[in-house]
Amino acid sequence: MEQTLQQEASINTILAKRPLIISGPCSAETEEQVLATASQLAATGKVDILRAGIWKPRTRPGSFEGVGTKGLPWLQKAKELTGLPVAVEVATGKQVEDALHFGVDVLWIGARTTVNPFSVQDVADALKGVDVPVLIKNPINPDLELWIGAAERVAKAGIKNIGLIHRGFSSYGNTEYRNAPMWHLAIEMKRRFPEMLMINDPSHICGRRDILQEVAQKAIDLDFDGLIIESHIDPDNAWSDAKQQVTPDVLGAMISAMIWRKEDIISEELHIQMDKMRAQINQLDDELLQLLGQRMKVADKIGQYKKDNNITILQTNRWNAILERAFVKGGQLGLSQEFITKYFDAVHMESINHQNKIMNS
Ligand code: PEP
Ligand code: MN
Repeated sequence: MEQTLQQEASINTILAKRPLIISGPCSAETEEQVLATASQLAATGKVDILRAGIWKPRTRPGSFEGVGTKGLPWLQKAKELTGLPVAVEVATGKQVEDALHFGVDVLWIGARTTVNPFSVQDVADALKGVDVPVLIKNPINPDLELWIGAAERVAKAGIKNIGLIHRGFSSYGNTEYRNAPMWHLAIEMKRRFPEMLMINDPSHICGRRDILQEVAQKAIDLDFDGLIIESHIDPDNAWSDAKQQVTPDVLGAMISAMIWRKEDIISEELHIQMDKMRAQINQLDDELLQLLGQRMKVADKIGQYKKDNNITILQTNRWNAILERAFVKGGQLGLSQEFITKYFDAVHMESINHQNKIMNS
């Protein structure tokens, strides 16, 4: 009992490390592959937790679906060999039991499981009365409620240490990413659950090696707590996710090349400078709101005029002219066309809504 308590304390301490780095193969394939990957990762000195998939939920049948329970003793050995705690993905209550039986330190719920409340509940039921950290990946579709729901089910089962993994969202057709990051969704989760660990999974976002570093750096710049990155002794011949895995050496080099930025500015002097600039920003935002309010009042007057004279609300030529002017003027001020389009679309919609109300009053 005492030993269990000690172990729990140490895994929670490891999870509290910043930045937290989790790495290991997408899938455990053979005992040799697991042990070699683990020892090479440990040798980099950059990794805190070893990951490996034992049961692999694949989108299409025929892909490698994991070695199953027989791989769990390999992870136990890897842990003995390196001292690194181990993490595996679980998708059913039975998998939770098996993983815990073999001393797995951290469990994670995969993206294809988070989407299904029945599966999440099955996992949560098996977690009752157990003290193990659980990391929850975002669901494959961009639905914050499903992500929150999974965290709630696991919390209701009594799990205290819950973390989140942002692995991007799938969409039809080829994009730059395997799973679009949609950073705003992860940022919104961070805002709603500021106390929860939030780590980024650039491997499953990118689906390829060449842009891993850039995505990992972006996550750190957005104040994520850590990274989970897939690594393999022979990435090209990996049985799953071959294109996105890197060797332990490359992983080590990637982590060394990262720039770790902090959210908090420590020195008093920097604080004062930041506060001054933030006060300026607040002032400008107030002025922008005032101006937008005035703009809508003018739009209301135009709305009244259109109503009195039976003119349509939408005047396409006028709208094009407004945008053209804004691109030129905004461009000179260093504003991107993308921003100008989004901003004017939002302002235009608000004007239309105002005028609609007047038309129908
Ligand atoms: C994985 O981590 O190997 C995995 C299957 O990830 P995801 O659930 O994000 O697809
Ligand atoms: Mn994978």
